[in-house]
Amino acid sequence: MRIFNQINDLQSVLQAERKRTRSIGFVPTMGALHEGHLELMRRAKAENELLVASVFVNPIQFNNSIDLEKYPRNLQDDIRLLESVACDVLFNPSVEEMYPEPVTTQYSFGSLEEVMEGAFRPGHFNGVAVVVHKLFEIVQPDKAYFGEKDFQQLAIIRELVRQYSLPVDIVACPTIREADGLAMSSRNQRLLPAERVIAPKIYQILKKGASLRNVLSPKEMRIWVRTQLEKIDGCMIDYVEVADDIELQPIEHWNQSTGARLFVALFLGQVRLIDNIRIF
Ligand code: AMP
Repeated sequence: MRIFNQINDLQSVLQAERKRTRSIGFVPTMGALHEGHLELMRRAKAENELLVASVFVNPIQFNNSIDLEKYPRNLQDDIRLLESVACDVLFNPSVEEMYPEPVTTQYSFGSLEEVMEGAFRPGHFNGVAVVVHKLFEIVQPDKAYFGEKDFQQLAIIRELVRQYSLPVDIVACPTIREADGLAMSSRNQRLLPAERVIAPKIYQILKKGASLRNVLSPKEMRIWVRTQLEKIDGCMIDYVEVADDIELQPIEHWNQSTGARLFVALFLGQVRLIDNIRIF
């Protein structure tokens, strides 16, 4: 695997590669890689001739400085894991390399950024859009792979691609979970042992909640899920939402949309976790 820290070096290699290869698959990450990331890598590797991954903890998408400071970083482990999936190229720039000047770009995603993560993490999706747009321009991938674990982020990126007519296919990949159901996340490393033991309850509650679709209205489902989550020790809920799966707007009646998902964001102790599942 070839590793680049400088944009110019990466670009000149990719320019040459583009002449040789039929397609470049790209998986952007913030590192502290786990099986969820690796599944995206495997899929991208299988569907493209060249796999490019990036590891960059993007400071401008953090609305909380402690979260940024505590975000896990294990580059040596990441390199080993990327090599295990035969990643061809790793881009691992510094903050200065990505942002030599202060970032002032403002994106507008309308109602998509007004709900859930957008409402609870001001500036988060603007920071995501800035980095993903810049990475797309640097790497110019044919396909880019994102996880449904961050379902709203996926919708934002599709909207970014649509607004700017970016020549990249966005591929959505299912959420990878631990054997006990906990959605894999780099932040899980920060859970205390007792928190890790109870964390799988989140998915159990989501699954049970979604299965009640025939007996509960969307509003009743939100209340049911919230009530169950509140019973978990040390759990502080940011939101529980039932929304359509395209615009991600809250729904009040099941027949309002052709697909719906159940979303949750909460703190378990100091660690903020998000998860979502399909209702129909
Ligand atoms: P991150 O490093 O958290 O920014 O995530 C990088 C990419 O991996 C994003 O597209 C995430 O949605 C995806 N991802 C993170 N965790 C999972 C998971 N458990 N299952 C599937 N994809 C994931």
